[in-house]
Amino acid sequence: MSDASKSASAAAGTTPAAVATAAAGDGPRRLIVLGSTGSIGTNTLDVVRHLQRLARDGGQSSPFEVVGIAGHSNATLLSEQAREFGVRHIAIADADAAIAAPSGVTLHRGPDAALAMVSACVRRGDIVMGAMVGAAGIPATLAAIERGATIALANKETLVAAGAIVMEAARRHGVELLPVDSEHNAIAQCLRSGRTLDEVRRLVITASGGPFRTWSAERVRSATVADALNHPTWSMGPKVTIDSASMMNKALEVIEAHWLFGLPSSRIAAIVHPQSIVHSMVEFIDGSVIAQLSPPDMRTPIQYALTWPDRVEGCSRRTDWRTLARLDFEEVDHARFPAIRLAWRAIDEGESAGAILNAANEVAVAAFLRGGLAFPQITDIVAEALDALPRRPIRTLGDVLVADGEARAWTEDRVAARV
Ligand code: NAD
Ligand code: MG
Repeated sequence: MSDASKSASAAAGTTPAAVATAAAGDGPRRLIVLGSTGSIGTNTLDVVRHLQRLARDGGQSSPFEVVGIAGHSNATLLSEQAREFGVRHIAIADADAAIAAPSGVTLHRGPDAALAMVSACVRRGDIVMGAMVGAAGIPATLAAIERGATIALANKETLVAAGAIVMEAARRHGVELLPVDSEHNAIAQCLRSGRTLDEVRRLVITASGGPFRTWSAERVRSATVADALNHPTWSMGPKVTIDSASMMNKALEVIEAHWLFGLPSSRIAAIVHPQSIVHSMVEFIDGSVIAQLSPPDMRTPIQYALTWPDRVEGCSRRTDWRTLARLDFEEVDHARFPAIRLAWRAIDEGESAGAILNAANEVAVAAFLRGGLAFPQITDIVAEALDALPRRPIRTLGDVLVADGEARAWTEDRVAARV
């Protein structure tokens, strides 16, 4: 591992050696999947199946033991996953869901089930995949950090809303945050070709541009839910798919990169790349640009996080250079997609700005999905929330939850007033 990635890790408060040691320990690595029934969660378990197959074929024992899984309400899938992987803990947020835990399995129920499960089973050296959606993932992720687990983090809202306390907790507990979001995973890989963060001119985060990349502002005003869910290159959960259509996903990722890599807003750029092959780039001060390329399949960054610092045979499609005719790049049209400017603003303002931006967006996206807002109103309302709500210092989880709750209540009122 190069000094640049060490610097990035140091800036992110991480200790790579701790991971290597834990990974090299005896027996399988204990894995806990928060959000196991979602898109990232099911892809994670797919990667585990693949790694188990590789180990079996090589005459080795299983590299992972899936100890716990958490989901919101899909009891059927949780039960199937529990049986297949022989988990010891299941957490389900929906207290009324009909689920029977197999004997010997502890069942945690209710809104705080994921947090209860983390408190019950996570130990130092475990790896926790943070794949819940939204700020709901913050308490369980923080608890896992406090228990000394390595965090493979897909749940970007956790960093957007609570980056200050999450990064501080990771530093304090000497644990590593491994980015799973494809762009940040790409940047972490690219940084490994440099020595220090001072050598980095800027990070360039790529964006597919989503389904509305070529639509006029006029046409986007009447976009339906089905239009917004029709992502051209990635298959993902509904919230992140809507975020991709508004480019709020890129806004969240700019803030996520700020926390993970410790760079200011002026050194985090975004560019549209419709093919989603280049997952992000690092521009160094000497003019070199290092990019990470692979077909758009989340199993690649998930596996990189699970096997880091090693690379092993992957299970996703390989890049086919015979059919890859071109890679296009376009400037972001900030007039049609104002979200990224809001992200730069939130980074510069600090304090609770990230929590406000995130909570307002979660409420607005939910309102759009149930037919209560026109598509462009999502970003408009987030901007209004940033204008209207006071900034508060973020020092504790309580501070985050207060700012989050205040922004949710304000945005619910605003949504109700608009329909
Ligand atoms: P999804 O909607 O498919 O899955 C979300 C998961 O979280 C589900 O398992 C759901 O049951 C669980 N969940 C939600 N609330 C919960 C609660 N209170 N307690 C326990 N579990 C709860 O979403 P996704 O697409 O898998 O995305 C997950 C996260 O990863 C998001 O933050 C997203 O932005 C990020 N991400 C996703 C992708 C992708 O390709 N899907 C790529 C990069 C980053
Ligand atoms: Mg991403």
